[in-house]
Amino acid sequence: MALPRPRPGILEITPYVGGKAKSASSKPVAKLSSNESPLGPSPKAIAAYRELAGELHRYPDGNATALRQAIGRRFNVDPDLVVCGAGSDELISLLIRAYAGPGDEVLYSRHGFLMYPIAALAAGAHPVAAPERNLTADVDALLAHVTSRTRLLFLANPNNPTGSYLPATELERLRAGLPEDVILVIDAAYAEYATAPDYASGLELARGTPNTVCLRTFSKLFGLAALRLGWMTAAPAIVDVINRVRGPFNVSAPALAAGVAALEDLEHQEQARAHNATWLPWLTREIQALGLTVHPSLGNFILIEFPSEPGHDAAAANAFLEAEGIIPREMGAYGLPGCLRLSIGREEENRRVVEALAAFVAGRR
Ligand code: PMP
Repeated sequence: MALPRPRPGILEITPYVGGKAKSASSKPVAKLSSNESPLGPSPKAIAAYRELAGELHRYPDGNATALRQAIGRRFNVDPDLVVCGAGSDELISLLIRAYAGPGDEVLYSRHGFLMYPIAALAAGAHPVAAPERNLTADVDALLAHVTSRTRLLFLANPNNPTGSYLPATELERLRAGLPEDVILVIDAAYAEYATAPDYASGLELARGTPNTVCLRTFSKLFGLAALRLGWMTAAPAIVDVINRVRGPFNVSAPALAAGVAALEDLEHQEQARAHNATWLPWLTREIQALGLTVHPSLGNFILIEFPSEPGHDAAAANAFLEAEGIIPREMGAYGLPGCLRLSIGREEENRRVVEALAAFVAGRR
């Protein structure tokens, strides 16, 4: 008897494993494994979410009208050119599903976000990784890997997990070098944290070209990861296509309400940004001072490289930190087994990280 078989490519997928939430340690847990906001969401977003409790029998607004308008005001984009999704993850999948299938290629940078190859394989398309230079996307290498089968190119800017970014001029060079029928998806999940003067989120390119998508999320600076809320903007033809393939009520009503309230709370956004602007450089400096390599990051996380000797390597550091109640993200799935990624936490969490790493480097417990 023939058993059901998935489509080609599906069994090549290594399932995405999220950051751990628990450690076996009896110490207080510092969950620094998923680049979440240590400040949590705006109290106004929590209130808006709670208010929805009386309306759970109602379907959400399938057009996300109020949220798209709030996004339009906050980010100066046309609300008609915004599509909301259940996390930017859903929009990544929808873009690939709508534009790529068997025989097509989805291009990304070697240490790009894991969902790009996963969503490509799920759609029956072929993921293609272009090499990087110094853990940074390389425009020339990306362009060299474009073929007549390339349909989309995904670039996280800043990138998770490396923290590196391409300046605005490089993004423009990439777009200009790509064939017009290739969609460039600039995944700007960490844009709100990016402070470099030559950084651009891709909103301008999405506005000014017919084939560029800018992808954003409420999971990071806005602190709403649990609600699953993301959005994208692009030219009308792309927006029209995604609206055809998305589910009619793909974003929940509590997420819509909390998203609007979060956007309106500029003070909370500023606090979250200021917190990161203080503690990202502090952690980077303190950990570098211990003799470890910390890659420069524009996000809300750092990538730490450990020596390769057993006992001093990333696996040993991970075990040591977990025993201290600190949970980093191991990077084997990203092809960086010598590294750990750590989110920027609350002040006391950041101080514990430095203390624990100092003890690890000194070989004490
Ligand atoms: N893109 C990048 C670069 C990310 O790091 C993440 C979250 N880890 C996402 C997209 C997905 O975010 P979400 O689905 O929560 O919006």
